[in-house]
Amino acid sequence: MEIINRRQRMSSVARKIRREQDRTVGLVPTMGALHEGHLSLVREARRMCDVVVVSVFVNPTQFGPGEDFEHYPRDLTKDTALLTDYNVDYIFAPTVEEMYPKGFSTYVNVEGLSEQLEGASRPGHFRGVATVVTILLNTVRPDFAFFGQKDAQQALVIRRLVKDLAFDTEIVILPIVREDTGLAISSRNLYLNADEQASAAVIHRALVQAKSAYKDGERSASRLADIVRSTIESEPRARLDYVAIADAETLDPLERIDERPTLLAVAAYIGKTRLIDNTILNKVKKKEPAPQ
Ligand code: AMP
Repeated sequence: MEIINRRQRMSSVARKIRREQDRTVGLVPTMGALHEGHLSLVREARRMCDVVVVSVFVNPTQFGPGEDFEHYPRDLTKDTALLTDYNVDYIFAPTVEEMYPKGFSTYVNVEGLSEQLEGASRPGHFRGVATVVTILLNTVRPDFAFFGQKDAQQALVIRRLVKDLAFDTEIVILPIVREDTGLAISSRNLYLNADEQASAAVIHRALVQAKSAYKDGERSASRLADIVRSTIESEPRARLDYVAIADAETLDPLERIDERPTLLAVAAYIGKTRLIDNTILNKVKKKEPAPQ
């Protein structure tokens, strides 16, 4: 495994692999502080691709003023040890100056999808995400890039970006990995003390309760949202930022749930830590092939 810090070196290594060795390249973009969620992406990349590149970069442009950019957990030594165990070929770990050199002034904005849910709470967040993903995809030019459904809106923004700007990369979205308590695994869970860890399970519990009401026939978005709200409000350490029920592809808000895949997304503070989670209410089941 090689750790690469320079954009130029990363793109020349990747170019060589594609051209001379005709091997497929998979990219897993991360901000480091790696956990089981990230590792599920790495495992799938390892399974699907000949060469696996994991990027580790805490991207300043996707953090708003007053957010946790400075305090975000960073431990490249530990991350490197983990990725060695997973047979990753390259870690791309550039500095901020390498990614955004002096004079940098081009940003990518995915309109519409970027403005709702997380975008409304964190203005400019998806502009930062779309910009850094554009740089990463152009540097590595992977055949496949792997992202988690944990960040459902980010997955939509990236799919749109890749389609609109004609990137030659297939985007693979993988399911949310959870703790035994149901808490979605996140690097930000490191901010939680033991009491807060226990309280944070309320977020998933709220989603499960709404989903079970949906299964029992509830189709009103506002009533389902109320279930999420009241469950989260029952936990003294938790404060709801938003609950949204929206078309899982366009993020248009829905009043009633119909046949369309529907995203139930939540952001909540546990103490000072802001966490997100989501579920798809009505996953469309793939039809069984007819017996021959
Ligand atoms: P991050 O380092 O938080 O930017 O995450 C890097 C990638 O890992 C993103 O595509 C996330 O959606 C994904 N990811 C983070 N947590 C999880 C999780 N619990 N399950 C699945 N994917 C995750």
